[in-house]
Amino acid sequence: MPPAKPKPPASPRLLVRSSDIHAAGCYTLDPIRRGARIIEYDGPRLSKGEADDRYADRIVTYLFGFGGKGDVIDGFGTAMFVNHSCAPNCETIERDDRIFIQAIRDIAPGEELLYEYHLYDSDEDDANCYCNAPHCRGTMFSDEEVARRAKIAKRKARNSA
Ligand SMILES: [Zn+2]
Repeated sequence: MPPAKPKPPASPRLLVRSSDIHAAGCYTLDPIRRGARIIEYDGPRLSKGEADDRYADRIVTYLFGFGGKGDVIDGFGTAMFVNHSCAPNCETIERDDRIFIQAIRDIAPGEELLYEYHLYDSDEDDANCYCNAPHCRGTMFSDEEVARRAKIAKRKARNSA
């Protein structure tokens, strides 16, 4: 048998520090293998109504939609610092109403963890992306949200004509 490579630790050490992309970011200090579940997006669970009440006037939120009923997780902890990128090295997966951030490729120590937000159901006018990836989509909204907004804009233009 070939000598075993040192195995990456089960949970990599993560560091939150300032990021070039946006405010603070989440970095790994350890190598992470593709497919590894890195961290849970954890926090109190709120219904859509509760979240709307609580955050009506708040600009920055860390809400993560899950399940099919519009429920959200009110992000609390390291995972909420993971930034969006159009060239991500992570994705989020849902298992039994829990959200995990999982590596989609091998990640080297010192790299910032990134996933695509696919934002939807936002009251914001825009969610511009400044990730600087070569194929940056320019927005953190999901394709569906972009299409939905284009439709609304079209309808508005028609009605005001
Ligand atoms: Zn981008």
